[in-house]
Amino acid sequence: MISDPHKAEQSEQLSRKFLPNVQRFTGLGSLYGGIEAGGTKFICAVGSGPDHLLAETRFPTATPEVAIPQTIEFFRQQQAVHGPLAALGVAAFGPVDPNPASPTFGYITSTPKAGWINTDMLGRLRQAFDIPMGFDTDVNGAALGEWTWGAAQGLDTFVYLTIGTGVGGGGMVGGRPMHGLIHPEMGHMRLPRDPQADPFPGACPYHGDCLEGLTSGPAMEKRWGQPAETLPLDHPAWELEAHYIALGLVNLIVAISPQRVILGGGVMQQPHLFPMVRSRVQTLLNGYVQSPQILEHIESYIVPPALGGRAGVLGAIALAMQAVSPQAG
Ligand code: ADP
Ligand code: ZN
Repeated sequence: MISDPHKAEQSEQLSRKFLPNVQRFTGLGSLYGGIEAGGTKFICAVGSGPDHLLAETRFPTATPEVAIPQTIEFFRQQQAVHGPLAALGVAAFGPVDPNPASPTFGYITSTPKAGWINTDMLGRLRQAFDIPMGFDTDVNGAALGEWTWGAAQGLDTFVYLTIGTGVGGGGMVGGRPMHGLIHPEMGHMRLPRDPQADPFPGACPYHGDCLEGLTSGPAMEKRWGQPAETLPLDHPAWELEAHYIALGLVNLIVAISPQRVILGGGVMQQPHLFPMVRSRVQTLLNGYVQSPQILEHIESYIVPPALGGRAGVLGAIALAMQAVSPQAG
C-alpha cells in the first residue's frame, strides 16, 4: 500500500503502537482520508488516528466550485505518495442530509452560507474516488473522534457542543450517533433572557436570542463591538457568556442525560470559561440531578475536547473507518 520503504516502515511502527484502534477497524496498514468541512475552513487529512496523521492541509471554505476541487486534488496527491485510501469521511457544516436512504444523502442542504445551498458534497467526491465514504455533521464527526480516541472513550451517551462561528451540538445516545428527523440543532434551543437586564436581542437570523444567537463568536462580537478573543478576562462578557452556555447545558443535561459534555469551538479556547460554566450549571441544576459526576466531579464532566482543534478532522477519519467497518451507529 505504501510504496516508499521508509514510510512503510514508519507506518508499520505507528500501526503497531496504535494496534488496538487500527486493528479494531480494519486491520493494519490502511489509510483513510478525513475532511472537516467547516463553515470557515476545510481541514483535510490522511492517516488512521491522532498519532498517525501523514498529511494535513487547510484552506478557506470559499465556494463549492473552489473548495471541492481543492479537496479532490489534495487526496489525489496523497494517493500518489502513500497509495490508495481505504475510505473517505466527511464531517460537514450544515444543515446536512445524513440519512443514507434519502435521495439527498450527503448534501449540504438549507445552509445560510452563500453558494453552498443544496451542494451534493458526497456525490462530487464519489465522482472522483470510487471508495467507501462516511458522512455526518461536523459536530457528530468531532464527537465520533472524541469517542474513538479522546474524551468520550468508553461512553455511550454524551454531548459534543461547539461554540464558534455558530453553535452546533451532536454526540451519541446509546452508542449511536445522534440523528433523528434530520440531526440535532442544539445551537437553536431557546433560552430565557431578561430583556431589562440584557437588552441585546441576539444575533440568530431565525430566532434572535437562541443559544447560538446569544453565545456564538459573532454574537459576542456584535454585542460587545469587538471580537471575543480580544475581550479582557475581567470583562463582564464572560459571566454573561458562561450564564447562557450553562442554561443551554442544563437543558441538554435534563433532556439527554449525557455521561459527559465536551465543549469545543473557538470561543471555548478561553480556559477561564470552563470553571465559570461548571459552577453555573451546578447552581442552575440546584442539586436536582443526583449524580456525583455533577455534584462532586464536574471538572471531569464538562470538559474540552481531548483532541483539541483536530477533533473534527480526526472524527472525519473515524467516519471513514466506520464506512469500511461499522463499530457504532
Ligand atoms: P469555525 O466555527 O469556523 O469552526 P471557530 O470554532 O474557531 O471556527 O470559531 C470562530 C469564532 O470563535 C469567531 O467568532 C472568533 O471570534 C471566536 N474565537 C476564536 N478564537 C477565540 C478565542 N481564543 N477566544 C474567544 N473567541 C474566539
Ligand atoms: Zn437560532
